[in-house]
Order: sequence, then structure tokens, then C-alpha cells
Amino acid sequence: MARYHDAVCRLCRREGTKLYLKGERCLGQKCILERQNYPPGQHGQKRRRKMSTYGLQLREKQKAKRIYGVLERQFRRYFETAERYRNVTGTVLLQLLERRLDSVVYRMGVASSRAAARQLIRHGHVRVSGKKVDIPSYLVKAGNEVALSEKARSNPHVQAALALAERRGRVSWVDFSPETFEGRVTAIPEREDIPVDIKEQLIVELYSK
Ligand code: SF4
Repeated sequence: MARYHDAVCRLCRREGTKLYLKGERCLGQKCILERQNYPPGQHGQKRRRKMSTYGLQLREKQKAKRIYGVLERQFRRYFETAERYRNVTGTVLLQLLERRLDSVVYRMGVASSRAAARQLIRHGHVRVSGKKVDIPSYLVKAGNEVALSEKARSNPHVQAALALAERRGRVSWVDFSPETFEGRVTAIPEREDIPVDIKEQLIVELYSK
């Protein structure tokens, strides 16, 4: 599948906010937004024009796609799925994105970013309720147990990610045991339990045009 392979910090600069795509670097002074908080490119430093409503909606959608590492077609499918639920569409959209296996592995704290979580999954290091799953978009259900392979547990990147997770803070709906490297999704999170800076209503308005 096509992926974005350019420097990811450009994406944060484009959105004008931290998207936390790089792990450790995102929490420190090395984050480029600390020095260059303007869009990339030749005209990036020019004063930003006031954005239209459409522009705001579009940027919010792009931000969500970039945070979760999802491309347009797949993102649209999540939205169409969310629309079929009776609950608030924007909230269901975020719940679906959070339920992706790469996001759950990231929330467990064993990967420093969702990209690193995807790598662990693709390399076969993750089991869901006892079965190996190597599909990052796999949707985890409430009650599922997610475990990391023995081999990956001693990986220095995993160890560093665990330390980072303590600094970043954990979510209440993923129980993680550092002894067994197992996590359990205890419930589908409510909106207030999803710590992402996204105005999902703008995305709903964009797609509902
Ligand atoms: Fe974004 Fe992290 Fe790069 Fe900062 S260091 S610009 S938060 S990806």
C-alpha cells in the first residue's frame, strides 16, 4: 500500500501542531516545532491567511489521517462505517481509529509511535487473544488481550518506548502489565478518554457535504 515516506516532521509543521509521529523526539526540545512553527516550503513563513470553513474542515481531516497513519480511501471507509452507527458519528470515527491494532499497541506503551507499532505488528510480534495478527488495521474489540512476543520484549526500542509511555501518560481503557507484556482493552473509549487534539465534528461536516 502507498505510504508517506517523506520527513514526518513536515506533517506537523503543515498542521501547525504536534502530531507525535516520532516518539522520544516529540516530547523534547529537539522537536522542530520548537524552532520552526510555520508550514514547510518556500512560502511557509509568510503570514497565514484566515482559513475558510472548508479549509478548516480539510485540515482537521488531514490531521486525523496523519496522526493515525491512515490513507484517504481507508479513512473514508472508517467514516462510512461510523455513519452506520446510531452514536455520534465523529466519536465513533475516533473509536474505530483507536481500535486499530497499531493504535492499541501504541497505547499499551510498547511502541514509541504508531509507525513503530505497525512495524512490530508486521514483523509478527503481536498476538491478539492468543492468535498472531500481522495486520495493523485489525480492529481490536473490548475484552481482547494483546500480547507482545518473547523476542520483542527485550528489544531496546520496546524498552525505550515503555519509559517514554510513562512520560506521555497512559489511557484508562487499556490495561497493560509490564511483567507479561500483555494489554487488555477493557472498554471502547468515550470521547473524553481519547487524548487526541482533533475536532472530529469538522470532519463529519466535510464528508457530509
Ligand atoms: Fe511532530 Fe514529533 Fe517531529 Fe515534533 S518531533 S515535529 S511532534 S513528529
